[in-house]
Amino acid sequence: MKPIYVTQPTLPPLEEFLPYLEKIWDNKILTNGGEFHQQLEQVLCEYLGVKHLSLFTNGTIALITALQALRITGEVITTPYSFVATAHSLLWNGIKPVFVDIDPITLNLDPAKIEAAITPQTTAIMPVHCYGYPCDVERIQQIADNYNLKVIYDAAHAFGVQDKSGGGILNYGDLSVLSFHATKVFNTFEGGAIICPDEKTKRRIDHLKNFGFVDEVTVVAAGINGKMSEINAAFGLLQLKGIDEALGQRKKIDARYREGLKNIAGIRCTNIGEHVANYAYFPIFVEQNRDALYEKLKANGIFGRRYFYPLISDFPMYRALPSAAAANLPVAQKISHEVICLPMYPNLTNEEIDFIISLIIDFSVT
Ligand SMILES: *Cc1c(COP(=O)(O)O)cnc(C)c1O
Repeated sequence: MKPIYVTQPTLPPLEEFLPYLEKIWDNKILTNGGEFHQQLEQVLCEYLGVKHLSLFTNGTIALITALQALRITGEVITTPYSFVATAHSLLWNGIKPVFVDIDPITLNLDPAKIEAAITPQTTAIMPVHCYGYPCDVERIQQIADNYNLKVIYDAAHAFGVQDKSGGGILNYGDLSVLSFHATKVFNTFEGGAIICPDEKTKRRIDHLKNFGFVDEVTVVAAGINGKMSEINAAFGLLQLKGIDEALGQRKKIDARYREGLKNIAGIRCTNIGEHVANYAYFPIFVEQNRDALYEKLKANGIFGRRYFYPLISDFPMYRALPSAAAANLPVAQKISHEVICLPMYPNLTNEEIDFIISLIIDFSVT
């Protein structure tokens, strides 16, 4: 059997991409906010139900730029249970990350623990909608308002996620950042975006991603090159046509995994209520011997991933911080030693899912 990885990008038929390429070849506009770039910003705003969106070359540069757009300095409260890029974006801005533990159900920043971590240096909170599960956006906003802090969501996993009333989760906080990396629910090979509520902020972000240029002769900030190219934007336009079908497939896979894994001793699935999910990942939690199951799956060609292990706070550039101490992050530590993300992508077959489930059942009885 061919190896099965934790994710596999959905690619539309190649013929369907060729007309986009022909257009680029005809126009000879390869980047710098061309036609496809403009179109993708517009259709994504409509699809996601957001006011303004600025496309980026990847999610990490978008995170770094989001912090610059709001002139964040000092200390920022964030989660250790995420991909390293979340905290790296702080270090790239000379900001000190302050890690706060996660909630055991949502796996997101625990709002009850945020206040104790606020100091006079704190300027912002950077929560993550981990696995696309929405953060407690209302409580986080309350805390931010009380302490006059900005909120920048790392929404890399949260493409298309709705809040409880059916609005887009990306409308919360001051800014939200998406990633369109190949492994994400919606991809442009590499790519990302910042979502912002007002035109003025969008303009500042657009300047920052283009070296700080406002016009031919005016540079207003030490901006970076964060522009998405026309090829990536064109691919995004094509991908978006198939996104609802892809999300529907993910939902079915999620249901099949849950049914197959529901009564297995020592194995737990998440339980956050399905109305809010985009089924970006399928994490399971293994009470004992997680790594033995991980290796067993691997030996059978199933390449799950231990997202997120190690915790960000355990990497060398973070572990000396007082907030990185294991005793400060007991929930994140425990979850990080139990998690395996199983393969999850639209083209995963029922036979493959059932094979993975059978390996896990077999593991639990031995
Ligand atoms: C993927 C990811 C990023 C980084 O996005 P890139 O587009 O790969 O730079 C940041 N944060 C989280 C939580 C991610 O999963």
